Amino acid sequence: MAILNMRLVPDPILRKQAKKIGKILPALKRFTADMVETMHSHNGVGLAANQVGSLQKVAVIQIPDMEEPLILVNPEVTRREGEREVVEGCLSLPGYRGMVKRSVKVRVRALGLDGKVIRINAEELLAQALEHETDHLNGVLFIDHLVSPDSLWKISDEPDEDDDDEGGDTDIPAMTAAGPVQTGETTGPQDSAQSPA
Ligand SMILES: [Zn+2]
Repeated sequence: MAILNMRLVPDPILRKQAKKIGKILPALKRFTADMVETMHSHNGVGLAANQVGSLQKVAVIQIPDMEEPLILVNPEVTRREGEREVVEGCLSLPGYRGMVKRSVKVRVRALGLDGKVIRINAEELLAQALEHETDHLNGVLFIDHLVSPDSLWKISDEPDEDDDDEGGDTDIPAMTAAGPVQTGETTGPQDSAQSPA
């Protein structure tokens, strides 16, 4: 497995629409394993393929209470319900947090690596992660959902590109709506699946 290079805003690949995956090949399994490792190494809870330079329509998610990562091939949000405001960050925009509008509940349809259909009904952090990652695959970033133009703030002075000693590189949240969270971080890659975003 390998840690993949993170694409950062304003890399144009982050604005591209991912291409639907036709056949699930062994290379995809290796790639998603690398995505999971990359997500863990950045203490993120989700990662979409274009964030690591691929336009395949695939994302991985692992929120703190999940034992195994969720691998989502061709994910689509099929239903959204309600609206809420939550704090969010993104591995492709390290050092920033924003207050964004998200759905209260979402329903997602995807395929697993075994080709079987996965249907997920989610709320809270998982719903947020699902919206965030399916957005990525449509070329949409969390900064497109800011509640107002000034609801994006910097949490770190180092606009670094390879993060590891800076608190702001998580994909997605700061755990639900608690406000900007600055972790001390530098927990190593997946020292536990529990490490928060
Ligand atoms: Zn992101």
